[in-house]
Amino acid sequence: MSGIAGHARVVIIGGGVVGVSALYHLAKAGWTDCVLLEKNELTAGSTWHAAGNVPTFSSSWSIMNMQRYSAELYRGLAEAVDYPMNYHVTGSIRLGHSKERLREFQRVAGMGRYQGMDLDILSPDEIKSRYPFTETHDLTGALYDPYDGDIDPAQLTQALAKGARDLGAKIYRFCPATGVRRENDEWVISTEKGEIRCEYVVNAAGYYAREVGKMFGRDMPMMVMSHQYMLFDEVPEVAAWSRENGKKLPLMRDVDSSYYLRQEKNGFNLGPYERKCRAHWATMDDPMPADFSFQLFPDDLERLEWYINDAVERVPLLGTAGLTKTINGPIPYTPDGNPLIGPMPGVPNAFEACVFTFGICQGGGAGKVLAEWVMEGETEWDMWSCDPRRFTGFCDQDYAVAKGMEVYGHEYAMHFPHHAWPAGRNKKLSPVHDRVASLGGQFGAYNGWERANWYARPGDDTSEEATQTWAREGEWFEAVRRECLAVRDAAGILDLPGFSRFRVEGAGARDWLLSMTTGLVPKPGRIGLGYFADEKGRIVTEMSIMALGEDFFFLITAATAQWHDFEWLTKHLPAGSEIKIQDVTEAFSCQILTGPKSRDILSTVTDADLSKPWLTHQSAQIAGNWCQLVRVSFAGELGWEIHTKVEDTVAVFDAVMQAGEPHGLKPFGMFALNSLRLEKGYRAWKGDLSTDYTVLQGGLERFVKFEKPDFIGKQALLAERQRGVSKRFVTLVIEAGDCDAPYMSTLWHDGKVVGETTSGGWGHRIGKSIALGMLRADLTEPGTELEVEIFGDRFAATVQPDQPLWDSSNERLRA
Ligand SMILES: Cc1cc2nc3c(=O)[nH]c(=O)nc-3n(C[C@H](O)[C@H](O)[C@H](O)COP(=O)(O)OP(=O)(O)OC[C@H]3O[C@@H](n4cnc5c(N)ncnc54)[C@H](O)[C@@H]3O)c2cc1C
Repeated sequence: MSGIAGHARVVIIGGGVVGVSALYHLAKAGWTDCVLLEKNELTAGSTWHAAGNVPTFSSSWSIMNMQRYSAELYRGLAEAVDYPMNYHVTGSIRLGHSKERLREFQRVAGMGRYQGMDLDILSPDEIKSRYPFTETHDLTGALYDPYDGDIDPAQLTQALAKGARDLGAKIYRFCPATGVRRENDEWVISTEKGEIRCEYVVNAAGYYAREVGKMFGRDMPMMVMSHQYMLFDEVPEVAAWSRENGKKLPLMRDVDSSYYLRQEKNGFNLGPYERKCRAHWATMDDPMPADFSFQLFPDDLERLEWYINDAVERVPLLGTAGLTKTINGPIPYTPDGNPLIGPMPGVPNAFEACVFTFGICQGGGAGKVLAEWVMEGETEWDMWSCDPRRFTGFCDQDYAVAKGMEVYGHEYAMHFPHHAWPAGRNKKLSPVHDRVASLGGQFGAYNGWERANWYARPGDDTSEEATQTWAREGEWFEAVRRECLAVRDAAGILDLPGFSRFRVEGAGARDWLLSMTTGLVPKPGRIGLGYFADEKGRIVTEMSIMALGEDFFFLITAATAQWHDFEWLTKHLPAGSEIKIQDVTEAFSCQILTGPKSRDILSTVTDADLSKPWLTHQSAQIAGNWCQLVRVSFAGELGWEIHTKVEDTVAVFDAVMQAGEPHGLKPFGMFALNSLRLEKGYRAWKGDLSTDYTVLQGGLERFVKFEKPDFIGKQALLAERQRGVSKRFVTLVIEAGDCDAPYMSTLWHDGKVVGETTSGGWGHRIGKSIALGMLRADLTEPGTELEVEIFGDRFAATVQPDQPLWDSSNERLRA
């Protein structure tokens, strides 16, 4: 072998900022026997031409964590690895044009402060004092981020590379990975210079990740956009200001107009995310070149004209500067704009750290997260926002292009809780989709499945704009109230296609499930919730376990959890086991029928025994079709889930709808279901239930059976029980204003932050604003008075008893 190592613990494919950061973090953690392969020179991909902005801003808690970590790392990196570099921490001003935007800023500022960052809201006058050259007459305010700035991306990558090499890791440049194969439980990576065997492999190939993914048989959920920034000549006024103040102007983002404007030397750098944007390498007549190292696309300024004019109106000095250079480079996008960091779906010991849209500001944190995935199989922070398994098989190329363009064109858009983005829709339709639509269903996509979020009446405003609000306002809100009250007073039906469903069968299945979950496994004929913990006792997932026989189960879980949960199960199956696990999601449909009249309705269409108690299930017939009637209700009323074969859905739905008419049966949507479950304190996956919390912190001790034989997480949970939890799940009722508490709103007591919300919303049956959250354990006594910060204002809140707010003794459920 000419010069390259024959064996390594980890091989990273791709030497941009992300791959090199991953190598650095592995080496720093003691995994120095790691190799990085770069097909060209380090930074030859997107990293080379990036603008190098390093914001901490994000409305996602985990992405903010990653970016905050990056900024902290970069501040000390030059010294830590002895590699000087240009990193200007200039602070940034993010301009707001509306009340809604300021609310977004207030929320992010609250999250940022909780992460220890001093983010601040500026008035128009304060903007002017920090950035004298800007027009502020039409602004409502701004977010000030003192940690933002710009870094030289190539120097950053070289610094990380030096750090990694100094620790013993190896980097081979001009050494593309050309193929991979699995041999004797190892990966063999081919290169033109020979083969390397390794335990783990990482795809960090940036916009080439699709090509590298193909080597593993993986179709990557990604596409490539062209993004341009323009460099402008020196402006004497900027030079004078910088000289006088001894610093650069803060980085400015006009997010409502959609661009960043940065001081570059003594001129400007303007980078728009334009609505009329351009995808590359997405069609047959525009194939991706085999090698695009250190190359750019031709300038395309026409697309940017509106943005240039807008920026000149905002900072008139820009109009005095000459344009000197345009950089038009490729940026990869996933369908939601977040990168892929974590296990490569379905492929053993392979990981992804690629498709970064903001890889410079996320690279540091991404290296930490990736290294944890490889070394420990789990991460310190819950990183579902970046987990490759959040995109399942339906994410084909058309979908990736449509969503990537939508995300790029709305890069700085606000993500309102009741707004459904329109691109890439109708990928998976329920057999009764047309019926749901004709009833007024307004849809949202859940793992590609279209489900009604709410039902509009003729004449209701169903425009996108009508849902672009943080407040409880608009016809959707009234509709949700009507739907919840119909469920309370009569009955509701919710068509729920795409519930993930796994068939688990074979000798030993029961004992195995006992070892996988913290609690009991139901007896045949019964259904129960199973909590799956990791070795630290943290909540990996929750599934409904339906026992069909002693060793025969259906596990039912959230639509988006499909690949994640399937992998958790299969990964833990002992070698040589007789247990078979099969994903049968596509074969079944589900209708939720719930409300006090649901028994009367069902009794007219089935001869099943409807007196069977809560948490039982039975096979039955509706309209001559087989179905499984499951006596549970996430809405917290008397009710059944009606599981059918997909092909029978229409007949069963029609029969139930017809039977329900005289009883006042109404369709209800996902928004109503969310409101109803909050009133019952039922947790939602990856909000209330995440690896950020242990099962005991999650208030789920009644699902933990310490007396049973060993199960994953038992030792950690025993130890935690012994020392007591530091924080614990609570339900709060809030004297809120016009908005309910979003995820990660801070809880205050005695002037200190003492916890956070994990979800919030309006409970229509109780007529109150509710939040579920995590609170310092000594404050969880019912009746404790707190405050919840919602979009910058604090509202009184009271800790509730540890029982549902609605039907506290579950009498309606058991009726
Ligand atoms: C104009 C522009 C401005 C930008 N500005 C910013 C910004 O201000 N802030 C920010 O955070 N982000 C910015 N970005 C995005 C940023 O550049 C990327 O997110 C980041 O560089 C991605 O880094 P990476 O390491 O994932 O990928 P890359 O830098 O693309 O690295 C991937 C590497 O993999 C190598 N490779 C590919 N295939 C193989 C193979 N088979 N074998 C070996 N090696 C292989 C490639 O040669 C390449 O070096 C900007 C992008 C553009 C286009």
